[in-house]
Amino acid sequence: MSDREEGKAFDRSPDGAGRWVEPGTLYVVATPIGNLADISERAASVLRGVDLIACEDTRHARVLLDHLGVRKELVAVHEHNEREASASLVERLGQGASAALISDAGTPGISDPGQLLVSALTGEGIAVSPIPGPSAVIAALSASGLPARPFWFEGFLPAQDKARRDRLAALAAVEATLVFYEAPHRIAKSLAACAEQLGDGRRAVVARELTKRFEQFAHGSLASVLADLQAGEIPARGEFVVMVGPPVAAVGTDTAEADALIDALVAEGVAPKSIARVVSRTTCLSRNEVYAEVLARRGAK
Ligand code: SAM
Repeated sequence: MSDREEGKAFDRSPDGAGRWVEPGTLYVVATPIGNLADISERAASVLRGVDLIACEDTRHARVLLDHLGVRKELVAVHEHNEREASASLVERLGQGASAALISDAGTPGISDPGQLLVSALTGEGIAVSPIPGPSAVIAALSASGLPARPFWFEGFLPAQDKARRDRLAALAAVEATLVFYEAPHRIAKSLAACAEQLGDGRRAVVARELTKRFEQFAHGSLASVLADLQAGEIPARGEFVVMVGPPVAAVGTDTAEADALIDALVAEGVAPKSIARVVSRTTCLSRNEVYAEVLARRGAK
């Protein structure tokens, strides 16, 4: 039998020689987004095996590394020094050192430093290998119930009001689920701007504090999640991922679901206003649209 078995579903071996780490390689290692237990076995092995660890913030990295009992040389790579730090890492890896790159949380390069370093290394023909694991965008989307095919990962919106509005206006017609990262001090402004520019009836899910003690998912329309935030039902604390469903015309399945739901509630004799409230919270239709639909169906009987 050949010792190469490409296409196997799982591979538990570090490498042919029983090592987790190859010399002259950068490992891009995903780390937890809030729950230390989410570090993978392989991530821990690689962090133990490399010669040095490039990290966004050395003090922050030590929390995770102390948890794993890892003591290594740490090299800071952050948004203000990524270019210079990359040049020196290219040199060290070129001489055969192995390294891991971690960020403060989640997957490096995803709204975090990493892209410049990876592109500098690959440009020099140096091997770069991912050690996959947590990322807030994927965790949030996977439990949102929104279509993930396609999705558009925007990351952080601009902080300035006009730039944020302009960016959202440019995204309004994108036929995909939109995914934004947001900080607690900007969440109210961002949700209000999303409702204004994308349409307040668009389906939305706000994920807060993923994998942590106060994890929360709030579902509804952009108008209703904004109202929940203003009412304190979604506290403006912690870390946020905001997801907005595709424009109505792009999702035949969504309108089909809404249709079926309206029919069922009409058949049960539920009051039109209640149907409008319930259906607008769980689909991409606004209250007014649902209300008009209900009246039309009742009139047709
Ligand atoms: N590299 C990270 C990743 O792979 O998700 C993202 C880093 S970015 C600087 C930080 C932002 O990610 C936060 O402001 C928040 O929007 C989102 N985020 C990170 N951890 C989160 C969590 N536990 N719950 C919700 N959002 C989170």
